[in-house]
Amino acid sequence: MSGAGAGGALGWLPGALAGLEEKGLRRELEPLGSMQGPVVELGGQRLVNLCSNDYLGLAAHPRVLAAAAEAARAEGAGAGASRLVCGDLPVHRRLEERLARLKGKEAALLFSSGYHANAGVPAALTGKDDAIFSDVLNHASIVDGCRVSFARTVRYRHRDLDELSDLLAASRARRKLVVTDAVFSMDGDAAPLAGLVELCERHGAMLYVDEAHATGLLGARGGGLCEELGLSDRVDVVMGTLGKALGSFGAVVAGSRLLCDWLVSRARTFVFTTALPPAACGAALAALDVLEDEPERRARVAALGARMKAGLERLGFPMGEVVAPIFPVVLGDERRALRASSLLRERGYLVRAIRPPTVPAGTSRLRITLSAAHAPEQVDGVLAALREVLELVPG
Ligand code: PMP
Repeated sequence: MSGAGAGGALGWLPGALAGLEEKGLRRELEPLGSMQGPVVELGGQRLVNLCSNDYLGLAAHPRVLAAAAEAARAEGAGAGASRLVCGDLPVHRRLEERLARLKGKEAALLFSSGYHANAGVPAALTGKDDAIFSDVLNHASIVDGCRVSFARTVRYRHRDLDELSDLLAASRARRKLVVTDAVFSMDGDAAPLAGLVELCERHGAMLYVDEAHATGLLGARGGGLCEELGLSDRVDVVMGTLGKALGSFGAVVAGSRLLCDWLVSRARTFVFTTALPPAACGAALAALDVLEDEPERRARVAALGARMKAGLERLGFPMGEVVAPIFPVVLGDERRALRASSLLRERGYLVRAIRPPTVPAGTSRLRITLSAAHAPEQVDGVLAALREVLELVPG
């Protein structure tokens, strides 16, 4: 016998898990009993789903589902290999062309997920003589991407252009790369993109912008924050995910043709992994069609967001910086956030408690997200439930 139970090499696990449990940091899976949607079934209960990133309600859209099935029928369930071996399928090319246009860039390259893109691209653009400058609240996948690079990583305070300016000016690195979330995943606020572009231009630094939570939502066509601010031409590398507002799975890195050519040879998370399955690509293509054909979805989630924002501000939570349907209700202590989440659940609302290391210690929170598929009554409902719950979990 081996393993934890026998006190073998994994004998440290029970104690370690108990340690997480004690600190309110243990995470556990819970199987959903239904498809992604504004209401989901969990543990036999029907709950209003306020924690998905399916912002436009496309994960269950009939056109998206049909396109996924059709792409699988036409090009297979799996790509069979990495793009560079024999997995380079027509649907990948079609999707890359569409995404390059959406991002206002010359070319685009698919990655298996946003995590893969962030874990691989910074290292492909830098080496041991270089430096990466990363906002402290950047997503974990960016943190990991910096770690696996050979460059020196310098973290700057959240959205602090003055600090970044000083760091860039002081740096003697051969190449400099600034990396930022466009919309920060746990706070819903936006990077100061115009200032970042200017600083990068002034210091000859490359700029990498992760539009995971901006793609499909911001900008005149849903292209993202770069489109919204008219800065697409001045950002070197734009990453977008297909698994959030676009309802599918995967990611794209858009930029110049030369950039994409370089990544094809040098981004290890592109080279050494199986290409995206056709179904995911077909679904994303259909999602892009829906994005164009049903602009009312974006309008609806924006209106619901305004309602949520006003309601949360009435409850005393400032939401002034929020630019996407992500609403952080910061409660501080892990256990307080967990308790609030479970009390909301008793009232029929699924809102997850977000704890360290996803967010800094002492800023545990409820992260409420909205979808175009929600009804205004569901927004009002969770606000009323939250008002009750806050009285039960005093700060
Ligand atoms: N970047 C950000 C800002 C994210 O929030 C996420 C996912 N939560 C990712 C990247 C990773 O994307 P994916 O889920 O496609 O791996």
